[in-house]
Amino acid sequence: NDEKNTFQFLDVGRVDPKKLDANIRKQQFGEIYGQFDASQAAEQSDRCLECGNPYCEWKCPVHNYIPNWLKLISEGNLEQAAELAHQTNTLPEICGRVCPQDRLCEGACTLNDGFGAVTIGSVEKYITDTALTQGWRPDLSNVVDTGKRVAVIGAGPAGLGAADVLVRNGVKPVVFDRYPEIGGLLTFGIPEFKLEKEVVKRRREVMEGMGIEFRLNTEVGKDIEFGVLLGEYDAVFLGMGTYTYMKGGFPGEELPGVYEALPYLVANNKKLLDLPSENYVSLEGKRVVVLGGGDTAMDCNRTAIRQGATNVICAYRRDEENMPGSRREVNNAREEGVEFMWNRQPIEIVGDGNKVTGVKVVTTAMGEPDERGRRRPEPVAGSEEIILADAVVIAFGFRPSPAPWFEKFNVSIDDGGRVVAPAEGACAYQTTNPKIFAGGDMVRGSDLVVTAVWEGRQAAEGILDYLDV
Ligand code: FAD
Ligand code: SF4
Repeated sequence: NDEKNTFQFLDVGRVDPKKLDANIRKQQFGEIYGQFDASQAAEQSDRCLECGNPYCEWKCPVHNYIPNWLKLISEGNLEQAAELAHQTNTLPEICGRVCPQDRLCEGACTLNDGFGAVTIGSVEKYITDTALTQGWRPDLSNVVDTGKRVAVIGAGPAGLGAADVLVRNGVKPVVFDRYPEIGGLLTFGIPEFKLEKEVVKRRREVMEGMGIEFRLNTEVGKDIEFGVLLGEYDAVFLGMGTYTYMKGGFPGEELPGVYEALPYLVANNKKLLDLPSENYVSLEGKRVVVLGGGDTAMDCNRTAIRQGATNVICAYRRDEENMPGSRREVNNAREEGVEFMWNRQPIEIVGDGNKVTGVKVVTTAMGEPDERGRRRPEPVAGSEEIILADAVVIAFGFRPSPAPWFEKFNVSIDDGGRVVAPAEGACAYQTTNPKIFAGGDMVRGSDLVVTAVWEGRQAAEGILDYLDV
């Protein structure tokens, strides 16, 4: 009798793949989570209740067919699961690693109510890693070539999402990126301990095998004119991300020993990839203060720990409950020895003229919610203190960085600098120039890998409508 025992989640608890001990993690940059084997993946997948209206699927930004591939894995059907996972997601092995599942699919799982959500992210990673290792590749043998070509600018998650959907529909994507590798922030921003770069390299090989062409080390607007691409291709997709760093606007930010988060992380990633990294900074032997409470701040904290910082303090102006970063990453940082100072707002970086010596902060109390529903931090009078530091990393997030050539080609931006490309309309994610589409961070503001993938994929659907193929 194959009848499913719906209540087996009472006997089988949630188990995550093994995580390396924090003392080992601190010594190296490799990924910290292990992999399920086939029987663990099947057992954990079998915990799924197969809810009639799966909330996980709605909450997942790419609307993965989660209960369906969990069922296939519980039955040991890896290839079909890999096929299904790729129908909705361009980068399933990457999302399985870096999505904040506690806020997305797993947060919405019915079993999250005290029983422990199904380990959706880890199973998604298992499916794709294992299938690709065993030689499975997407099957495009039925695709009919339309003869159309689309230029994709940016090989980040948005550009890769667009290229995937285009090539599966017989449209040839040619992807341009200024960097020497594909992935955008996947390769150059996110550290190895969350996502090893071999994973992105393997995805490049898979995508090239599908017929996607990459032209790397090519900056559009510098190495090749945008107008040339617009003339040569049937449509253009922009997935160029957001790269303007937010400043604190307080004195001392220019002192030697104060670093911007992204250049710090990019240089560290490039060094690990054996690429030239002019701006590389080692925080070995330094007392480090990281300012900010998002994913980027957590990545800086944990990079500094691995570089051998004497101690790392993360100061954030709200409390732990109201921080934007993923809970999982805060816990990982804490386990690795990062000390958190919540409710501390920096008001000055202090130094002796030649170098930074500390950060002056004021304690905050949590006030009324702001327009996004997060409680506003309000400074408490007379609470100033100085946190001693030899190095300070500023991780306040990013603002859009519209290219100077947008205006010439009639690509409009909103007041915040984001490219206007609405999801709704005759052709999804079409900009104010009908031949140009856009998606990802440059349209929605800096967000997540999975939302950039979704917008890239949806924009590709918009391009297919525009090309009428
Ligand atoms: P990007 O990834 O920024 O890619 C844009 C690409 O466009 C780049 O490769 C760039 O070189 C290229 N480009 C730009 N201009 C040009 C040009 N003129 N010519 C040629 N190429 C150009 N999200 C998560 O979901 N989980 C995480 O754990 C997570 N951690 C993060 C950690 C850090 C440090 C940072 C900075 C971000 C993190 N994010 C995370 C966010 C996530 O990485 C981004 O939301 C996502 O990468 C956005 O994808 P994108 O394709 O829009 O842009
Ligand atoms: Fe969950 Fe992200 Fe995978 Fe969707 S893509 S199922 S949100 S891990």
